Amino acid sequence: MITQIGVLALQGAFASHAACIAELGHSPVEVRNTADLNNLDALIMPGGESSTMSQLLASSVLFEPIKDVIADGLPIFGTCAGMILLSHEIVDGKLDQCCFDAIDITVRRNAFGRQVDSFEANVDTVIGDFHGVFIRAPRIEAVGEKVQVLGTYGGEPVLVCQANVLAASFHPELAGDVRLHEYFINSFVTTKEK
Ligand code: GLN
Repeated sequence: MITQIGVLALQGAFASHAACIAELGHSPVEVRNTADLNNLDALIMPGGESSTMSQLLASSVLFEPIKDVIADGLPIFGTCAGMILLSHEIVDGKLDQCCFDAIDITVRRNAFGRQVDSFEANVDTVIGDFHGVFIRAPRIEAVGEKVQVLGTYGGEPVLVCQANVLAASFHPELAGDVRLHEYFINSFVTTKEK
């Protein structure tokens, strides 16, 4: 079954996510306005700059409609800045920065260091070893009891889920390996009758 996977395309690494979805034989849909949310089977929130994305979500009037589709149970995969947007609480965020409170995690922005400190390392995940690309990555400082840890780096959670929401502090779309996208589609996405 081919699914329609939206990729929030306001800013950041959305093109690489779309390429992963296409490589898996599914249909990527770039999401820039409310109409683009129609008929999606899932939505990916990419990495980039979460404070800029937060502003663009407000100015494009997408914040509330996305909050609604998350509450309706649409499967969501957030990576890096996307994970920050999905979190319950942001530490070291910009003053006006908003988050969806879709997964009960507290994240600290840029906690693994600045851009020069970006690194690549093996992540131990539910689907096996995965090449983690960490770019000004957020650190998950607290996880609520409903959150399941699906991947760790150095003993710390870096891949987590709660209900319909999957979140990674690294960039699976830049790993040259589509297994985490495949896992997301297979485990979280149930195709609606159209
Ligand atoms: N540090 C960025 C932020 O706060 C996230 C970095 C990324 O997505 N690669 O949004």
